[in-house]
Amino acid sequence: MITHHLSDRLLMAYSAGNLPEAFNLVIASHIALCDECRARLASFDAIGGAMLEQMPETGQALPDSALAATLARIKTTPVAAKPAPRPAQSRVLPEPLASYVGGDIDAIRWRGIGGGVRQAILPTSKAATARMLFIPAGKAVPDHGHNGLEMTLVLQGAFADATARFGRGDIEIADEDLDHQPIAEPGEDCICLAVTDAPLKFRALLPRLAQPFLRI
Ligand code: ZN
Ligand code: ZN
Repeated sequence: MITHHLSDRLLMAYSAGNLPEAFNLVIASHIALCDECRARLASFDAIGGAMLEQMPETGQALPDSALAATLARIKTTPVAAKPAPRPAQSRVLPEPLASYVGGDIDAIRWRGIGGGVRQAILPTSKAATARMLFIPAGKAVPDHGHNGLEMTLVLQGAFADATARFGRGDIEIADEDLDHQPIAEPGEDCICLAVTDAPLKFRALLPRLAQPFLRI
């Protein structure tokens, strides 16, 4: 059961097509797994559609912000969110993520980043970075803070930090205010999609030195 969802602000920005590709990817992947957020997105899409229909009829100017959001929605096509095909139990990656990876978990080309943790950076536009993360059961990602927004979607296993536990389909949204150390639960390796729009802030020297090489 999914207990950690997208915020209204993120769903609205996604609906308006205002987000970098990597954020569209993580949001679309959560929506593919989450009936609740898919329903909320549909209502934001409907609001955007209604604004468009009103424009020629009333002849009244929309507020600048609404107009900008509406125009952006026309100009950019968000990564399409599709419901998971129903007999998808054996697949770990939902669409559109599976297309970015080029298959399921087996298709990921992992690269070790220390402590048994592995990553694979996915090809998206440069405005934000999308990476698959593999955290061995019981192991931790180094303690870190954030210079921007980080969204982490769990696809297999689970991790916990000081704020909560996150299982399959859950999404953690972290920003400058949160320092955390995600630890994978024992028993099953944890696989996540993590998206960031700025480098992380590591306390320990070793991860700091490795950062430029790992694009983390
Ligand atoms: Zn949700
Ligand atoms: Zn983080």
